Amino acid sequence: MKGDTELIERILRLKKQRNAVILAHNYQLGEVQDIADFVGDSLELSQNAAKTDAEVFVFCGVHFMAETASILCPEKIVLLPDMHAGCPMADMVTTETLKKRKGELPDTTVVCYINSSAEVKAESDICCTSANAVKVIESLDREQILFLPDQYLGHYVSTKTDRRMTLWPGFCPTHMRIQPEHITQLRQEYPQAKVVVHPECRPEVIALADEVLGTGGMCRYATREGISQMIVGTEVGIIHRLRKENPGKEFIPASEQAICPRMKLITLDKVLWSLEEMTPEVKVPEQIRLKAKVAVDNMLVV
Ligand code: SF4
Repeated sequence: MKGDTELIERILRLKKQRNAVILAHNYQLGEVQDIADFVGDSLELSQNAAKTDAEVFVFCGVHFMAETASILCPEKIVLLPDMHAGCPMADMVTTETLKKRKGELPDTTVVCYINSSAEVKAESDICCTSANAVKVIESLDREQILFLPDQYLGHYVSTKTDRRMTLWPGFCPTHMRIQPEHITQLRQEYPQAKVVVHPECRPEVIALADEVLGTGGMCRYATREGISQMIVGTEVGIIHRLRKENPGKEFIPASEQAICPRMKLITLDKVLWSLEEMTPEVKVPEQIRLKAKVAVDNMLVV
């Protein structure tokens, strides 16, 4: 405990010296969330950090999130305390595979979920988040839409709109661990609880939910009056934030196995090391950044 306190003090001291902000995704370890200036979803974190005068962002999340911060704030130094913290779903599409698919589907608008690399964003027409995906799809006037990389978010969106979409066969291995049986069993144990699941879940899980929300939406939903118990169908790290912000309410993970191992690579030790050494830095090359930013900006005006 003493070790942790000293470690935290050293991080906070160095953070001040470096004029840095610490950004923690909702899926980060509890102790990492607790030292962060902002906790949230990937886009929200970059947007909040951009409003500060910090020169350094320590991004406690995965690689594409740090890239998004670099796309939006090229003048900042963006640190990712462990370069192995990548997103397996984002890695399911590369520029090569995307270019090939685009060649097979001429006149297609490419919509990329924010969980994609900067290079893939640069090859896409418009970006989306889990919260605004339906709005983004409905804003498009072209007939053909290629949605990537998450087939399950894409499938969920397709049930909310009559637009025709070709879905990239990507998926989040962490959300795949949540099975319909988990929800059915927990509903019996907690009959009063609301079931809230992430749209990255498989359709059989989504079909059993009361609400389908991204992580930001889940955090807002939990604060509502009348919500006293919630079965949470997403990565378990969010439970820490939900409990902290809503004392007296009960949050039950849909599956204790829904852990993203890449998110958990970021530890307090690595945050300190990263601030000490000012490495590893994530910097999107300008040529890619400018193209990727068009896709992000197109989303922001929808
Ligand atoms: S939870 Fe899924 S989508 Fe999120 S970073 Fe992990 S693998 Fe990627």
